[in-house]
Amino acid sequence: MQHLPWENIDTVLLDMDGTLLDLHFDNFFWLRYLPECYAKKNSITYAEAEAYLQPLLASYTGQLNWYCVEFWSQTLDLPIKQMKQDTSELIGLRANSDQFLNRLQRAGKRCVLVTNAHRDSLNIKLEKVHLAPLLDVIVSSHDYGYPKEDQRFWHSLSEQIDYQPERSLFIDDSLPVLRSAQGYGIGHLRAVLQPDSQGPDKNCEEFIASTDLLNLVSNLEPQ
Ligand SMILES: [Mg+2]
Repeated sequence: MQHLPWENIDTVLLDMDGTLLDLHFDNFFWLRYLPECYAKKNSITYAEAEAYLQPLLASYTGQLNWYCVEFWSQTLDLPIKQMKQDTSELIGLRANSDQFLNRLQRAGKRCVLVTNAHRDSLNIKLEKVHLAPLLDVIVSSHDYGYPKEDQRFWHSLSEQIDYQPERSLFIDDSLPVLRSAQGYGIGHLRAVLQPDSQGPDKNCEEFIASTDLLNLVSNLEPQ
């Protein structure tokens, strides 16, 4: 395992879904519950709903609309926010992510949540998992109008928070997002091996994969 050089890191930028939170909720919501609701509303079969929704969802990958509750509510004529509330019992932390944040806080590292999630989804999730007290700043890319995949996101972030990209660690389960952060000059990057606790390991390609977040702080001393 490659240890992080914590003496060279002041700020930790953290993705939410699939990094701090178990991606199982999102996968269930978009891949199972949504086709179910769409089929019911339009009096079609589950398979027909799936065949319609899958390419539609895929066509917005990496765009801000993909993450936008209002966009999907309008496009599909479904109450997405309410549907998320209805399934919110499935929202949960990834193993040890609260302990991980605790360790960072005790070591005096600044923790910034940087998510592509829409504020409506973000609020539903943070009500459920109580991570907010462990985070110094919470940023939704919808605040800027650009997703993390877009370089303009990182420029906007540097206008909002004073941080040194080369002295920052960024953890995310999306490879295109990690590449975008790398392109901007974020100094330390980690991918997530198993974003969905019930899904397979991910091929993290050129990035170092993190299995347990606590392993990342095994060499971090409290202040
Ligand atoms: Mg993610």
